Amino acid sequence: MRIDVDSERIVAELDTLAHFSDTEPPAVTRIVYSEADQRARAWLKELCLAAGLAVREDAIGNLFARWQGSDASAGAVGTGSHIDAIPHSGRYDGTVGVIGGLEALRALRRSDFTPRKSIELLAFISEEPTRFGIGCLGSRMLCGNLTAESAGLLTDRESRPLEAVRKAAGFTGGLASVILPAQYYSSFVELHIEQGPILEQERIPLGVVTSIAAPAALRILIEGEGGHAGAVLMPKRRDAFLGAAEIALAVETGALGTGAVDTVGTCGLVEVFPGLANSIPSRVRLELDVRDTDVARRDSVLQNIAQACQDVAARRKLQITSTTLNADAPATCGPAVVAALEDACRADGITYRGMVSRAYHDSLFMSRIAPTAMLFIPCKGGVSHRPDEYAAPEDLANGARVLARTLAALAS
Ligand SMILES: [Zn+2]
Repeated sequence: MRIDVDSERIVAELDTLAHFSDTEPPAVTRIVYSEADQRARAWLKELCLAAGLAVREDAIGNLFARWQGSDASAGAVGTGSHIDAIPHSGRYDGTVGVIGGLEALRALRRSDFTPRKSIELLAFISEEPTRFGIGCLGSRMLCGNLTAESAGLLTDRESRPLEAVRKAAGFTGGLASVILPAQYYSSFVELHIEQGPILEQERIPLGVVTSIAAPAALRILIEGEGGHAGAVLMPKRRDAFLGAAEIALAVETGALGTGAVDTVGTCGLVEVFPGLANSIPSRVRLELDVRDTDVARRDSVLQNIAQACQDVAARRKLQITSTTLNADAPATCGPAVVAALEDACRADGITYRGMVSRAYHDSLFMSRIAPTAMLFIPCKGGVSHRPDEYAAPEDLANGARVLARTLAALAS
């Protein structure tokens, strides 16, 4: 089958989309439900309607654009990503999967292909945790990972309830209606920039993702006793920061200790109270992130950290409490979807390699309800979440064309 994608149009539409932003170009800032986000959404709906797709939105704001297949009883083939963007980021993260996905559908509609299963483009709401502190809000709700009840309790950074914010944006239905019926999708594929350097370094145009690592995040509070940095002698101290330092090292030791390259641990937030050079730290807040493609291995690291907290608390006479902020299971991609992507690369004569996605995507949650895989295209220097994020037109075209071929195979 011959598939012609219009790469100039993809580039032009990504450019237009980048201008729906609260910061000056090249920086993009598009926070969910903001005016910029709402204008971007209205523009995207027009594009989908112009492509002949049937558009609907659910009560949280996920946007669906459907090409109805001949077999109405078959689960749809889904594709898509997100259009929200963290402050001062770039124009390709998420948007490539939405605009590239739309172009894949348009290319198939221009060809002589007719789908048996419906093909549906999705723009997930609030993939970024910027506003509500939780990533993948839309896909979590679609798959039932986040209940309507829990979502209804969320507030944004300015303490405005999600309920009020989404209703003000025009999404007024009951949140319980967001969860998708069983078998709604028969498969799901997400096109995305790699957000890492491997494809560029190895000069391989496409990556077929076989598993998605998922993070666990912990908040650890350590309480000791403050005092004068000169007056309190060392044997008498209960220094909260020294306890925190041992825990941070335990994160590294735990991650290295699995012996697997896929285990990573980061202690990226340390708040020391009162935070003065001449005052013994009385309290510390740590936030940690541990990721792995293997959930048992990741959880073994979490256990090591919990053990370190206990040991440190006893030895240093500190009070340590740990809260799990999130602990999501990793995803193994659907073998049939991976095979369809690989077949499409071969049919197109494009080299590819298998990859692990170390970043978090809506596909992690879609994999809970349908066989799911992802297709990565290179991005310059592996840079993402920055204004200088860049993907070349030929890579965008490769991604959209192989995606189109994959959707056609899955929908036949
Ligand atoms: Zn993304």
